[in-house]
Amino acid sequence: MPSPRQFDVIVLGAVAAGLMCAAVAGQRGRRVLLLEHNGQPGRKILISGGGRCNFTNLHCAPANFLSENPHFAKSALANYQPRHFLELVEKYGIPWHEKALGQLFCNGSARAILDMLLGECALGSVEILLNARRIAVEHHSGVFHVTSTVGGFLAPALVVATGGLSIPKLGATGLGYDLARQFGLRVIEPRPALVPLLLGGSEAGWTELAGVAAEIEARAGASAFREKMLFTHRGLSGPAILQASSYWRPGEPLFVDFAPHLDADSGILEALNQPGARRDDAAFRQLLRSFLPQRLASHLAQAAAPEGWSNAAITACEHSLHRWAFHPIGTEGFEKAEVTAGGVDTRDLEAKTMESRAVSGLFFIGEAVDVTGHLGGFNFQWAWASGTAAGKAV
Ligand SMILES: Cc1cc2nc3c(=O)[nH]c(=O)nc-3n(C[C@H](O)[C@H](O)[C@H](O)COP(=O)(O)OP(=O)(O)OC[C@H]3O[C@@H](n4cnc5c(N)ncnc54)[C@H](O)[C@@H]3O)c2cc1C
Repeated sequence: MPSPRQFDVIVLGAVAAGLMCAAVAGQRGRRVLLLEHNGQPGRKILISGGGRCNFTNLHCAPANFLSENPHFAKSALANYQPRHFLELVEKYGIPWHEKALGQLFCNGSARAILDMLLGECALGSVEILLNARRIAVEHHSGVFHVTSTVGGFLAPALVVATGGLSIPKLGATGLGYDLARQFGLRVIEPRPALVPLLLGGSEAGWTELAGVAAEIEARAGASAFREKMLFTHRGLSGPAILQASSYWRPGEPLFVDFAPHLDADSGILEALNQPGARRDDAAFRQLLRSFLPQRLASHLAQAAAPEGWSNAAITACEHSLHRWAFHPIGTEGFEKAEVTAGGVDTRDLEAKTMESRAVSGLFFIGEAVDVTGHLGGFNFQWAWASGTAAGKAV
């Protein structure tokens, strides 16, 4: 058995947070080893943003993140901002464009972002070992002993960047949470986020609209998102639903405003009160068709038609159009969730460095931590920011 090789820092997980952290630490002169159990680094970067990687968001702010402690992410996000990542992107001459809402994407393939991060790791002489399976960690006298199928390694600092449980077929495992628990850190129960929702029972009929999309406002808890919703064969998806899903909890309703552009009290009643306007099913369906896709308008006209067409019934119908309660029976789970909410409890980490408060030299970064971004480049920004925070501290 060869004796373990020594490094200053061992990073587990070679995607967004891990590559960033390794590059920053390596360029500070640290001898860095990056271990990844996949046969290639950065798989999730390659498929992100539909293959074009939505690598950051210009409007990134702490309010774009969910966490048990909404203040935790502030320090790392302030110290590494979207413009810092953009400077790197420009240094590598990667063409990019801004889509709606400050979302920055590559013009070409997401591979350019991965190559850039690998280039930054090479500048820091980071050693990357792939196919590193069965990783186990012990800690004696201030040194982390890591064993794996590609060898044994020692270092005074260990950075865990193994992400969450989303998309197991890309390599997701619970290693980060297991290590956190092994070293006494608390873990907020991981749950699928940015994930399609399932409809069933009396609401299963809505899935007949599979393929229909409409601009709506989806609300879960206190958070609302006005974007597109898409009906699927199993339930609801599209950006508005994915965003709201991060706030939705099983057993709770999800509210949809089908007419977010209309006055909540008078829009429909007013339209049906126009001179010459009829008050019947056909007129109601026609009205809905003026701002909703035809199939959705017909379905909704049947489901929501006011009984008796009195002013009171129309007003009640109007309220229900603005606050339609769906009762999802679940989510599509970690197989389809873009991210994992929950994770290593931020109460047990230093906000400036991502280091464990109790175990010196142990760091958790990226999606493994209980900080989850909205859709739109925020999750990568958190990976870059938390990776940089730890990379500067190890
Ligand atoms: C389809 C899809 C598209 C996305 N698009 C975007 C986007 O455009 N913009 C955006 O901001 N966010 C996007 N995201 C979210 C973003 O990809 C993640 O939030 C981000 O990659 C998290 O980075 P991370 O480094 O913390 O973890 P991960 O990217 O999950 O990387 C963790 C790494 O650790 C490795 N690992 C796990 N377990 C082990 C183990 N036991 N041993 C060894 N290695 C292990 C994994 O193989 C993986 O390589 C997308 C996510 C998905 C699924």
